[in-house]
Amino acid sequence: MAITAPLLWLDGAMVASSTAGAPLMGHAAQRGSLVFDVGSFNATSRGPALFRARDHVARFMRSARIVGLELAADEPTLVDAARRVVAESGSEQGLVRWSAFLDAREPDLVPRHHAAHVAVAAQTLQDPPRREPLRVAVFDDARKAAPDVLPPDTKAAAAYLGPMLARKRAIAKGADEVVLLDRDGDIAEAPIANAFAVVSGVLWTPPLGRVLPGITRDTVLAIARAEGIPVKEERLSLEVFAAADEAFLTATSLPIAAIGSVNGRPLRGAPGPLTSLLDERVTAARRGEDPAREGWLTLVR
Ligand code: PMP
Repeated sequence: MAITAPLLWLDGAMVASSTAGAPLMGHAAQRGSLVFDVGSFNATSRGPALFRARDHVARFMRSARIVGLELAADEPTLVDAARRVVAESGSEQGLVRWSAFLDAREPDLVPRHHAAHVAVAAQTLQDPPRREPLRVAVFDDARKAAPDVLPPDTKAAAAYLGPMLARKRAIAKGADEVVLLDRDGDIAEAPIANAFAVVSGVLWTPPLGRVLPGITRDTVLAIARAEGIPVKEERLSLEVFAAADEAFLTATSLPIAAIGSVNGRPLRGAPGPLTSLLDERVTAARRGEDPAREGWLTLVR
């Protein structure tokens, strides 16, 4: 469960969360043009630390650029804003969310004004209860928007509507989550998580250009390479995915969730040994317990 901290950062000032809102008639709400990014902060022996905050801010700024939103704040300011909201929240672990939105009250699809508001908010997270391996559904006609329709590295609100409908469909069929296919019918990603398979000891994930460049995806790949685990960033068919030795999803909020079945077909022994090892290593990096990954932390106090 996430609880939003009482104060958030809005255009350079700390304000009450309850007073900050995107206007109903604004472009962000009516056209879904709000862009956002979500990072984590975690308890370390030196107090809470943001994980890969600069990478999240860089991706946030790239989303804004693609959608055409102009941000008045630069990267160090947005990292520092995250540090401030987390410090103000007083909590040790949770999520931090950067949002940029236009409040222009104009009905045009392409807005005339591009100066965006920027908000940064911290959300406290309780330790999630132990999660059962996910029952995943994959539908041949639930596909991610192709890169020429919507660049996959844009985290814009409107991009989540199709995936939301696909997840609703999966839930109605008794699954927990959906994995979307790409335009060619290969595995793309879940609505808010990247997908991985383990096949004969090789860690396999779909290539960039078709999926969001997940920060957890990158963390898993970096750790796996450092461990000498063979990795493959190549197109992954549904057949290979559904028959994999192990499969899992990665996202800041998870960080790794084992997949127990695909379209009702069980995967052997989820979570598998590589899934568990990577989960341990990613968690250790986030908690400041991996000296080789110190550079990914921003201490909050
Ligand atoms: N894919 C999509 C479409 C997402 O929205 C997210 C969540 N940001 C991810 C993958 C996972 O990315 P990350 O590991 O950076 O949270």
